[in-house]
Amino acid sequence: MTIGVCPGSFDPVTNGHRDVIARAAGLFDTLIVVAVTNPNKPGRFGLTERLALLEEACADITADAQAHGRHLEFASAGGLLADFCRDVGAAALVKGLRSGADFEYERSFAAMNSHLAGVDTLFLAASPAYSYLSSSLVFEVSKLGGDVSEFVPPNVLAALRERHGADRRREDAG
Ligand code: ADP
Repeated sequence: MTIGVCPGSFDPVTNGHRDVIARAAGLFDTLIVVAVTNPNKPGRFGLTERLALLEEACADITADAQAHGRHLEFASAGGLLADFCRDVGAAALVKGLRSGADFEYERSFAAMNSHLAGVDTLFLAASPAYSYLSSSLVFEVSKLGGDVSEFVPPNVLAALRERHGADRRREDAG
């Protein structure tokens, strides 16, 4: 049984992430999608909420994997990703690449994870429709009142609206 691990901040999960997860799910018997906290990225949603949004947003992909005799699982990891990979016996990590900048960022992590856990990293090219899409872009646009409904799953859209509505009410009150 081959196990893949697809890590990310998913802060929040976008349709670009969903696309990579759906494609990666077809490559392994079990794909574990892992929400992690990146100390270099601003935390927008807490880890528990990010994981809940991610799992709910991928319910259709989970069902589709199951229908094809595969498994999609969700987890969060607080420590080293390399340790997580070793613990679950991962055959490979899977990451989406939108640009050369993504590759430059990811290549050192790939080398380190290979060194620490002997795990290879597979890169999936972002689908053209999502190659400019990031969680930070979606969050900023939504914060300023822009319509991001084409770019995120419905549950994330609702969470963003709630978050920014609450922020605006706080600002108005202050
Ligand atoms: P972000 O860079 O949006 O904060 P994450 O840290 O959650 O995203 O990224 C998790 C993984 O998903 C990374 O490998 C990242 O390159 C990839 N990814 C993010 N957005 C997209 C997208 N629109 N298309 C393909 N891959 C993506």
